[in-house]
Parts: sequence; C-alpha cells; structure tokens
Amino acid sequence: MTGHTLDTDVLVIGGGPVGLALALDLKYRGVRFMVMEASDGAVDHPKVGTVGPRSMELFRRWGVAERIRAAGWPGDHPLDIAWVTAVGGHEILRLDFGTADTRPPLPYTPEPEQVCPQHWLGPLLVREVGVHPEGPLRLRCRLDGFTQAEDGVTATATDLADGTALTVRARYLVACDGAASPVRKAAGIAAPARYEPLTFRNILFRAPLLRSRLGPRGALVHFLTRPGALRYPLRSMDGRELYRLTVPGAVGRGAPDEDAGVMVSQA
Ligand SMILES: Cc1cc2nc3c(=O)[nH]c(=O)nc-3n(C[C@H](O)[C@H](O)[C@H](O)COP(=O)(O)OP(=O)(O)OC[C@H]3O[C@@H](n4cnc5c(N)ncnc54)[C@H](O)[C@@H]3O)c2cc1C
Repeated sequence: MTGHTLDTDVLVIGGGPVGLALALDLKYRGVRFMVMEASDGAVDHPKVGTVGPRSMELFRRWGVAERIRAAGWPGDHPLDIAWVTAVGGHEILRLDFGTADTRPPLPYTPEPEQVCPQHWLGPLLVREVGVHPEGPLRLRCRLDGFTQAEDGVTATATDLADGTALTVRARYLVACDGAASPVRKAAGIAAPARYEPLTFRNILFRAPLLRSRLGPRGALVHFLTRPGALRYPLRSMDGRELYRLTVPGAVGRGAPDEDAGVMVSQA
C-alpha cells in the first residue's frame, strides 16, 4: 500500500490513560499534536477502577472532571474497604468512607477520588480528545519504528484498518505505550526490575443480585483474608453488577489453574 507523510509538533504513542491525559493537556495548552493508538480504543477488561484526587484535579483543569463523575458510578454505593473471611461473611475490619453522595468535603482537595472504571474512562477520554479525521487521535494505528535527528523525530506507522503506511515528522515523540514500552526499549532506556515480579490474574464477573443481598454490608473493596487461599481484593467495578476478583497466578504460566467460577464461589 502507498503511504503518506504527516507533520506535527508532538507525536504521542499510545492512547491509554497516560497518552490520552497528555493529549488533553496539549489540547488545553494549544500545542499541535497527534496520538497513535494501536487498538480500537475499546476496553473490555478494565484495569483502572478509581481516579485519584490529583488526576481528578487535572481532569478539572481540562474540563472533564464533571463528566467523569457522571459516567455511571452510583452516588449511594458504599466506598468502604472491608477485610473479610468471605464476602458477606465474617468481617475483621471496615474503613468507612461513606458514599460519593454523603462523604464530607476533604480539607486537602476540592476533587476527591472518583470511581470510574477504565471501560467508561477510556472511551470518555477518547471522545474528549477527538478521533481522526475530526480529531488528533488515530485509532488502530501502530507505530513501527522511529529515527531521531537534531531537530525532531521521524516515525513510521501502519494504519491497521487498511494496511496503509504512514510517516510522521514531529518535533517530539512521547512514549505513552505502556509498561512494556517498545519506544523505551528502542531508545535504549533500561527499566531494571527492582523486585522479582509477581503475576496476578483478574477475574471479571457479573453478579446482579450481590449488591442487594449484601445490603449495608456492601463495600467498594472486600479484601479477602483466607490464609492459604484467597488473600486478595474483590472490588465492585460499576456499583451495580460487575466485579473483579484478583487471584494469584496467571493462566498458562504454571500457576494455580483453578476454575474462575470456583474461586468466585469461594470468595
Ligand atoms: C489490575 C490493575 C488495577 C489497576 N487499578 C488502577 C486504578 O484503580 N487507578 C489507577 O489510576 N490505576 C490503576 N492501575 C494502573 C493503570 O492501569 C496503569 O497505570 C495505566 O493503565 C497506565 O497507563 P498507560 O497509558 O501508561 O499504559 P497502558 O494502559 O498500557 O496503555 C498503553 C497503550 O499504548 C498502546 N501501544 C503500545 N504499543 C503501541 C504502538 N507500537 N503503537 C501504538 N500504540 C501502542 C497500547 O495499545 C495501549 O493502549 C491498575 C493496573 C492494574 C494492572
């Protein structure tokens, strides 16, 4: 396929939370930029659950804090963290954080944290940044490589929709391409592991009746405390029916291959 050449000031690689946040800041400052994201922007397995106060303060500056607060988290759902032997079972300790509707104002920030799972946050930020051809975000566009000169960077990419090759000349290229960051590696920047990595598995499941069954014993996070078995959090993702249980190990890596349904039942 024939390609074409584009020109911008800042080329952001990666449209995850970091790349999209940078895009909003560049937009706010009136800087010319482009974002390349290899995926189609949909999030089917949310990592981010809560947006912290400092991030909410920045989102307020960029004019999106209210939309994040209105994304769907129910204002009457408890924000508590409870340490339990089982969800709905024996409770060891509870930190009472009230609900988004009832918590008192915080003395240190006007923007308290907000639950907004990534399958809501990601598409919301994508809309705010704006998708090509109307906006500067190119979805399904993969960076293949780049070369650096005194006055800028030349990047080569592929439009995954039709296989078209793309060349982008930019003054700056910013690596927002995740923890494994191919850009960081290509730039020869090391990220030595400080600790032996641990691998976890996240089980996402729906339990539409759980909230009403728990009643006042509901929590944002139930921290399971079952020595030798589950010792990890089960958190509500959407405040209604979607939950995430974290368990040790990963499928196919020699880790416990216990059935997800069995582990959810144990929890
Ligand atoms: C289980 C779990 C729970 C978490 N909970 C929270 C939480 O509650 N709150 C919170 O703030 N954080 C949370 N985090 C951390 C948060 O998810 C990460 O900090 C965040 O996703 C990092 O964002 P990022 O944009 O740097 O990277 P990523 O989210 O990894 O995004 C990188 C993007 O770059 C794209 N990309 C990669 N290579 C290329 C390429 N060559 N060309 C084009 N695009 C490319 C990828 O497709 C991807 O979309 C959690 C993480 C995990 C694992």
